[in-house]
Amino acid sequence: MHELEVVLVPQLQDNYAYLLICKSTQKAAIVDCPEADKMIEVIESKGVTPVAILNTHHHWDHINGNRDLIARYSKIKVYGHHSDKERIPGMTYPLQEGDIVTFGEVSAKVFFTPGHTNGHISYYFEQTGDLFCGDVMFYGGCGRLFEGTAAQMHTSFQKLGALPHETRVYCGHEYTASNLRFAAKVDPDNAIIQQKLDEVATLRAENKPTIPSTIGVEWQVNPFLRVEQPAIKQSAANTGADSSDPAAVFGAIRELKNNS
Ligand code: ZN
Ligand code: FE
Repeated sequence: MHELEVVLVPQLQDNYAYLLICKSTQKAAIVDCPEADKMIEVIESKGVTPVAILNTHHHWDHINGNRDLIARYSKIKVYGHHSDKERIPGMTYPLQEGDIVTFGEVSAKVFFTPGHTNGHISYYFEQTGDLFCGDVMFYGGCGRLFEGTAAQMHTSFQKLGALPHETRVYCGHEYTASNLRFAAKVDPDNAIIQQKLDEVATLRAENKPTIPSTIGVEWQVNPFLRVEQPAIKQSAANTGADSSDPAAVFGAIRELKNNS
């Protein structure tokens, strides 16, 4: 039995940390936690044993809780990309593409997904179909290119986009409404975006999360995955970009989003 319970823990203004529970062993892993106290409350109420912190990247709003979590759970293992050893507090297990992280009876495959930062990784639980991708792929959007290039981020997107369509996508932020509003501008005839905008507005009005989406939904609405679709190519071409080059289309759309 490889059952994974995913508990979404809202943090700061619009961050999501996740508590992952292996149901057969009650061992747990924490994905990207800036506010330890809120996470500890959830851990206590669930009565589970946290054994791992899975960090996607070094930004403050993803790692700030590490020190307090380590102080509280002294044996907890801290995972992140090996190049971020100096930037992720308390990292004990440096990772790279293709590594496997196991806790309890569940395991995740590590994907190297640079673009937002140089050391960004994503965790894919193949047995249960759950993907934790930090600030690379958001519902309907993508993270800013702080350290990497559009070409790198494009490659990261295609890598995640190759996962099965039913894969649940758990990202680091609640940016869905603004992402979909932008997506509708660069993909104006896409009826599914309109439909998702309505769904998302209803959820947000009730203060509910829009996460997770799925890889299949991302292929339907996310302009950064849809760089080979005529509408997206046209929107990129309108800015003077070479629309025959998917990475250039990606970069042009990211630039448009920056200025939107
Ligand atoms: Zn970030
Ligand atoms: Fe972030």
